[in-house]
Amino acid sequence: MDGETDIKEMYENVMNILEDLTSNAHKLQEQVLEEILKSNAGTEYLSRFFPNGQADKCFNGSDEGKSLYLYFIKPEMETPSGLVASLYTTFYFKTKSFKTGLAKFCTSPIETILCSDNKQSMFCQLLTGLLQRDEVVRMGSSFASVLPRSIKFLDDYWKELCSNIRTGYLSDWITDAGCRNAMSLILTGPNPEMADLIQQICEDKSWEGIIKKLWPKIKYISSICTGSMSQYIPLLEFYGGGIPLVSPNYSSSEACFGINLKPLSKPFDVSYTFLPNTAYFEFLPVNKDGGGKAQETRTIDKPVDLVNVKLDQYYEVVVTALTGLYRYRIGDVLKVTGFFNKSPQFQFVERQNVVLSIDLDKTTEEDLSKAIMKAKLVLEPLGIMNDLPKLDVEIMEQCCCIVEESFDFTYKSLRKGGVISGLELRVVKHGTFDQLMDFYVLKGASIIQYKPPSCLKSKEAVKMLNSGMVGKFFSSKTMF
Ligand code: AMP
Repeated sequence: MDGETDIKEMYENVMNILEDLTSNAHKLQEQVLEEILKSNAGTEYLSRFFPNGQADKCFNGSDEGKSLYLYFIKPEMETPSGLVASLYTTFYFKTKSFKTGLAKFCTSPIETILCSDNKQSMFCQLLTGLLQRDEVVRMGSSFASVLPRSIKFLDDYWKELCSNIRTGYLSDWITDAGCRNAMSLILTGPNPEMADLIQQICEDKSWEGIIKKLWPKIKYISSICTGSMSQYIPLLEFYGGGIPLVSPNYSSSEACFGINLKPLSKPFDVSYTFLPNTAYFEFLPVNKDGGGKAQETRTIDKPVDLVNVKLDQYYEVVVTALTGLYRYRIGDVLKVTGFFNKSPQFQFVERQNVVLSIDLDKTTEEDLSKAIMKAKLVLEPLGIMNDLPKLDVEIMEQCCCIVEESFDFTYKSLRKGGVISGLELRVVKHGTFDQLMDFYVLKGASIIQYKPPSCLKSKEAVKMLNSGMVGKFFSSKTMF
């Protein structure tokens, strides 16, 4: 080789490297920035953004593993005029961007997500999740309600799931061709060791921390757990055994509103930073006087733009979307908690409309949720989540009182004056709320977008809850 060939080769090598670097400029920039931020996370300046430096630690390695995301679809319907109507999530799971993006990191093969029989889908998704248990670094679904439901399914089916893993044969009742095909690539042979291990974990009397035991590398649970989903937090904390709960976003079928930039905030402190490019947002101010005065929630008609909302104020969000919605009132009430650059950050307060109004009183979803959290503190030491212990009348009556005590001034004065009678608490046996969900799913609700109703109008649904009742308790009269 002469000198000229040497230089030419060297030149070509350098050009190849440059080609590589410049083609991936964006990705490389992000990597460099991530590295700089990580190595400086402990500095005074950055520690403000990563309180405790926990967020670094918690998500380390989470980009390497897989996600056990439990997703379900609902078959499309036809409108009277012949148009195809679909749930937003079903539509999204069928898009190319989902199939080639997020789905690639999920333990569930796309065929199991797209299976319209929810039971077969759930069985296969849990089975693949268990088979890949050593790779799972996060678990979740869109809304938190899906997860306790999945754990309940696991409770009902773990023996059969273990038997499938032990023998390498998929249960015969899984008849969906897509599921069978996809599973044949994952359930490739008998694995008695894994089956024994899972069996041992599931046989444990207490399922506290079961998620962490079954998926030992799990870093966090990702699911919307604010608003009406906050009622599932105690269950998820129990099953998760201390894994952080991340409420990643605030979104709806109409638009993606915002994301949570502080994933490790406690669910009750989560704020969502609005994404200004997803829709045109307006905000109707909501007058919400708290404190000792009678609480009133009333909207005033003049909307303000996204950049003009004021700190600490309450608003109802209104959307004008590319999909054709014009000034659509979502019905959610939000509170401004801060700004990220020019974009406001909101805490989800409640879905508008009070859940309880007997006379002049107005109890909101937020009030109710806070009252229940207080009463829960009394029940927690009793370990009520494992098994339903014998209900102590005194303690249950105390719970009724705590709930009522936590309500606002108007409620309490009406209660004192005898206009409202004592609160009645009805305890139902385990699985009753799952039955309620089944009832609504049968009626057309989707599992994945299901929101538990705070107020029941259907007589059938009320009858169902009553049939699961194991005890009835009243507020002790001495409190008022
Ligand atoms: P859907 O269109 O069925 O997906 O439901 C959207 C509704 O779910 C929203 O209007 C909210 O009421 C509720 N929702 C969505 N994201 C959140 C969140 N992060 N926190 C509380 N509620 C939420």
